[in-house]
Amino acid sequence: METTRCKRCLLREAFPADYQKYVLSLLQKIRPADRAEQTCYDRRLAICGQCDQLNHGTCMGCGCLVELRAAYRKEKCPFRRWENG
Ligand code: SF4
Repeated sequence: METTRCKRCLLREAFPADYQKYVLSLLQKIRPADRAEQTCYDRRLAICGQCDQLNHGTCMGCGCLVELRAAYRKEKCPFRRWENG
């Protein structure tokens, strides 16, 4: 059965194998001092999940994988849609 994908799916939802291969190992390498708190991370991704710029886990505003960008404490949304900008 084929998986239904929405362009506002995160990579982990739309392409879990790619998420495992490309994102998870990078997330694990982020230094704790640089990492966003889990609640902040979850809020950012929830905002991305409602955003017209999201395309299968990639932000069309900056070209990043949002699941990576959102994990860094000091990163910001290119359109200032996250609560910290
Ligand atoms: S980082 Fe900002 S512009 Fe990009 S998908 Fe998330 S909320 Fe939208």
